[in-house]
Amino acid sequence: MDNIVALCKRRGFIFPSSEIYGGLNGFFDYGPLGVELKKNIRDCWWNDMVRRRDDIVGLESSIIMHPKVWEASGHVAGFTDPLVDCKESKQRYRADQLFWEPVNVETDERTPLEKLPIPGRESLDVGNGKWSTTIGYVSALESERTNEELREKALELKRKLAFKGELRWSSITARDITAADPVRDIPHIPSPATGKPGSLTPPRSFNMMFETYVGALRDDSAISYLRPETAQGMFVDFKSVVDTGRVKLPFGIAQIGKSFRNEITPRNFIFRSREFEQMEMEYFIHEDADWDKCHKEWIEWCRQWLLSIGLPESHLSLYAHPKEKLAFYSKGTVDIMFKYPFGVQELWGIAARGNYDLEQHAKFSGVPQVIFDEATKKKFTPHVIEPAVGVDRILLAVLCAGYAEEEVKDDKGNVEKRTVLRLNPRIAPVKVAVLPLLKNKPELVAVAQKLHAKLKRKYAVFYDEGGAIGRRYRRQDEIGTPWCVTIDFETIEKPGATFTLRERDSMQQKRITEADLFALLEEQVY
Ligand code: ATP
Repeated sequence: MDNIVALCKRRGFIFPSSEIYGGLNGFFDYGPLGVELKKNIRDCWWNDMVRRRDDIVGLESSIIMHPKVWEASGHVAGFTDPLVDCKESKQRYRADQLFWEPVNVETDERTPLEKLPIPGRESLDVGNGKWSTTIGYVSALESERTNEELREKALELKRKLAFKGELRWSSITARDITAADPVRDIPHIPSPATGKPGSLTPPRSFNMMFETYVGALRDDSAISYLRPETAQGMFVDFKSVVDTGRVKLPFGIAQIGKSFRNEITPRNFIFRSREFEQMEMEYFIHEDADWDKCHKEWIEWCRQWLLSIGLPESHLSLYAHPKEKLAFYSKGTVDIMFKYPFGVQELWGIAARGNYDLEQHAKFSGVPQVIFDEATKKKFTPHVIEPAVGVDRILLAVLCAGYAEEEVKDDKGNVEKRTVLRLNPRIAPVKVAVLPLLKNKPELVAVAQKLHAKLKRKYAVFYDEGGAIGRRYRRQDEIGTPWCVTIDFETIEKPGATFTLRERDSMQQKRITEADLFALLEEQVY
């Protein structure tokens, strides 16, 4: 991750927001290359999801909506994460990301009362003549190594207290702090900030919506919210879209836009930030339709789409939310997971939400959210399948999957390191770099500039005449440019006017005509 973050900064993909003021946690800026990459991801999604389908239309709803929207959707009451404060360091943690364990040590004898590491916490008789004593607690933040870290800390504690006996784990996998008893456990759990117990508060609900005021008054009646998801726009505008007469069930409404969540612990670079961009779609189906089939089709569509922009199949997996954890109205949710360097995490959630959202808005607004069924001559509220994905999470996934450091041989046979970003041509910020072999040969430069001008009418291209050709190739490798075209002496001297086409991944070179270059781009960049 460190290398990817460094590359993003160095080459202008992503910068911390307001960096000259020390940055603002959970906010990022996209630099010259990042903004191109992001736009390409968005465009691919929009083209495939909206323009190339007959059953989906687009929408751009406002970021700030009527506050009632968020009451109806349940966000005012329930869009919360459990929060734990450390009173000493003033740090805040998401309770479900803070793991803990009591450290129990088994001995042959009962620990005398005056020697109990936690006063009053007496040894327990665990049978076979053994006694178990809780000598303290350990905690660790969620990571790939949470369990190992807890065990290491437990051994460390045992060593520090010079407590003889065998370490016994009370649960197989660590528990998060929502499962801790506020009286028995929490006062003894060390804060990750200070390493000492006694400063953590019991978890409480924290609403993640950013509040703001609309209009000149600053009282409660003016409170509104920055949207925490784009999805509600599609529900609230459902009737307006239906009334345009352009759509017939089943149909979808898609939207790309910014969302805001006051995440307690933004982390893992742009994976979890406070301002991010979502691409969401609500696919409305008949109340009697086979929702399960439709849900499965959407999961596969989304998976195939991720493959089409170059994510490797080996990094993708599916996670079906257990029935008992679903909201009462939900019929099922499956997440497409991606193997990030910091663990396997949710990339795209595909939820079958029944007709809950439309019914809620009908209830709160008093405006029926129904459709007329010609066959049965009855009105009904459609059900919905919702694929919701974050642009930033896709962008991070393509960077992580594409990043490689390799050892390669240069022209003279010397081994050198090359950093390469294997970005799919569909989303690569620069599609082709045009390079005249020598910058002091006007004949080469003229042809190169002409080609560059022609290409840039349709594609994002880059013109580079500075430095040795090998170094110029490396610069393009590092930003993920799939092809370099070199204008060399053969171009101007031999018939056929061919260029050298150098391919990023294989580093193979071949000769190509201008017509073939355009044909290649036409086929690969869509
Ligand atoms: P998580 O469990 O990771 O917080 P979620 O289940 O709350 O995510 P949804 O509400 O389903 O997420 O949002 C849909 C998609 O929006 C997610 O799959 C993810 O790609 C993206 N997303 C959600 N929260 C963030 C965030 N804080 N930063 C970046 N992307 C996000």
